Amino acid sequence: MFPVLLPTYNRTDVGFVRGEGPYLFAEDGQRYLDFGAGIAVNAFGHAHPRLVAALTEQAQKLWHTSNLYRVPGQESLAKRLTEVTFADTCFFTNSGVEACELAWKMARRYQYVSGKPERFRIICFQGAFHGRTMAAIAAGGNPKYLEGFGPKVEGFDSIPPGDLKAVEAAIGPETAAILIEPVQGEGGVRVMSPEYLRGLRKLCDDNGLLLIFDEVQTGVGRTGKLFAYEWTGITPDIMPIAKAIGGGFPVGACLATAEAAKGMTAGTHGTTYGGNPLAMAVANAALEMALEPDFLPHVEQIANYMQQQMGRLLAEYPQVFAEIRGQGLLLGLKLKVPNVEFVNAARRAGLLVVGAGDNVVRVLPPLTITEEHVREAMEKLSAAAKTFETNP
Ligand SMILES: *Cc1c(COP(=O)(O)O)cnc(C)c1O
Repeated sequence: MFPVLLPTYNRTDVGFVRGEGPYLFAEDGQRYLDFGAGIAVNAFGHAHPRLVAALTEQAQKLWHTSNLYRVPGQESLAKRLTEVTFADTCFFTNSGVEACELAWKMARRYQYVSGKPERFRIICFQGAFHGRTMAAIAAGGNPKYLEGFGPKVEGFDSIPPGDLKAVEAAIGPETAAILIEPVQGEGGVRVMSPEYLRGLRKLCDDNGLLLIFDEVQTGVGRTGKLFAYEWTGITPDIMPIAKAIGGGFPVGACLATAEAAKGMTAGTHGTTYGGNPLAMAVANAALEMALEPDFLPHVEQIANYMQQQMGRLLAEYPQVFAEIRGQGLLLGLKLKVPNVEFVNAARRAGLLVVGAGDNVVRVLPPLTITEEHVREAMEKLSAAAKTFETNP
């Protein structure tokens, strides 16, 4: 019999029924320390009282009206987001990939209304991940995700990251924009250097291109800044975000400067659900928490502690771990043993972590964790690493 759930995931046989802070509880009562945070989504842990209150209060008032009417929660969230970022304007979506899709449409439309309709190509990077729609698999360029889905959506040019000369060479008369994750998440936690990102900014400025930072995974405090672009001294023109901004409620946003967004006039884009009152209630509360004065300093401090502790782990198990990568609490352990097996071993030890490309295991805890949680994670990572020690 064909599975009732489309079998596109190799799911782990564990079902969670309850969460509390950084812990998840399975059907059998087993407790897990969740250092995957729903793939960088549960930045405030599970069942945070402020998010629960925001959602339940809104749920009793109004769920959905459509975007044919003003949505007050969108206005307050957009006001806050534009106050604390480079952006002048926001569009709310239900997911990361929808925010990305709008970013690409916006870049093309910008060139179109700037009298350059021939410019529609977007330079993107090997190892990137932008989601699973037809355009997103073209932008990601991962052959595994493209296979069997017909002709690749036209206009995405994938090149290796890290080499400004290669980017310069890839810019042609049809290029509209450059699209990059400041830290490649799914691709294996590869941090792009500030110099490189500044170089991309300059290439965009010199060639009339828009710079798109996909901060779906890096955004809302994950790297220790509210957004990863803040580490670079430059700003993008367009920035899709999602994951942590909803703290677990599905919501995304595409942020942009007024100039980059100038082509997006009435009727050029839309969504039925995007930015509905439930999503906005939660996202407003999540952003409020991320903007509290203690929040980002806490992320930086706990990330430093975590990186130190992971360094010790690396030294202790050189036959298991090859390298630590990442920024803030977007951390990766490059392994010498298969990452899928390590993720399973960690889970058996009571710790959830997430695989990534390049044989990396991602460690993406809630940003609210304490040193005690870090120590507990280290014990469990250590227990997992021990299972790979070869017997003499
Ligand atoms: C997760 C992710 C996406 C896609 O988000 P979905 O909500 O799964 O559509 C896009 N870009 C990056 C960098 C991501 O990490």
